[in-house]
Amino acid sequence: PPATIAFIGLGMMGRPMASRLAEAGFKLRLYDLSQKAVSDFICAHPMALATASAKAAVQGADAVITMLPDGKIVRQALIEGRDSAREGMAAGMLAIDMSSSNPVDTQKLARDLAALGVALLDAPVSGGVKRAIDGSLSIMVGGNAADLERARPAFAAMGKTITLCGPAGAGHALKALNNYLSAAGLVAMCEALVVGEAFGLDPGTMVDVFNSSTGKSNATEVKGRQFVVPRNFAAGFTTGLMAKDLRTASEVANHLQLNMPGLKQAVAYWADASGKLGGSADHTEIFRYAEMLAEE
Ligand code: NAD
Repeated sequence: PPATIAFIGLGMMGRPMASRLAEAGFKLRLYDLSQKAVSDFICAHPMALATASAKAAVQGADAVITMLPDGKIVRQALIEGRDSAREGMAAGMLAIDMSSSNPVDTQKLARDLAALGVALLDAPVSGGVKRAIDGSLSIMVGGNAADLERARPAFAAMGKTITLCGPAGAGHALKALNNYLSAAGLVAMCEALVVGEAFGLDPGTMVDVFNSSTGKSNATEVKGRQFVVPRNFAAGFTTGLMAKDLRTASEVANHLQLNMPGLKQAVAYWADASGKLGGSADHTEIFRYAEMLAEE
């Protein structure tokens, strides 16, 4: 019989990722703070089971996947909160945190779960909502190889590139660093577009030239063309979550006593943008923030 997975967190990413698992034949036990998120999912996948807490979700499951905003919330859901998974988990279960959590917290969570007989994989993802729908995410795994093999069928349903990055926390560390590059590339493109437009350049032409030149990146190839130049700002990843990822990358650098002035600037830039645009604004709206700053 197909393995049973407790899936906690059916937001922008969790919903399409859990859909891929349902379509691949996994039995799902769902929990989200938002009852609507769960009932909308069940409408599309009537075989999945709604539960009322993390504790109830994990009962009888072989694995629990979390896709929550950050590692503090994951810790609450798994071991610290009221009706947390801890109260329903059996030894031998596999926990997989696919959220973009802080890797230092993840190392501690892995130790705490191990004491309960539960192995943890950190397995954050990159690729955004579109690739979550396609099942072609990049999955960055931290943990041990044998646990990755247990999780591989589920990962294969959600992702195309599955990389074992190292021990517990390695996936979360690499994810935060990836998003530093992603955020920095996006800001650079937005500032270039604002300056170029003021000089009289056409933004569509600029993006075409970046894409055939050394300025090419995911920002120019995907975000510039699909969300920034048409100004629809509908990538499905919020400014608040990007600001959190940059803070995470910076916390890792601080933890290792490494001075990273560029990263510090990126943290301040996105924190201020998140305040001015609102944390729930799409992260591609950073273009509007760049336009606002240009007029100061
Ligand atoms: P989201 O805010 O859309 O979804 C989070 C979900 O968690 C919501 O449905 C919310 O109701 C639920 N939730 C919050 N607290 C809860 C709790 N205590 N118990 C149960 N459910 C709770 O966020 P998202 O965009 O899906 O992102 C999820 C994670 O994935 C974040 O760590 C984010 O940084 C990361 N991520 C997002 C993207 C993207 O493109 N959106 C891409 C890669 C990684």
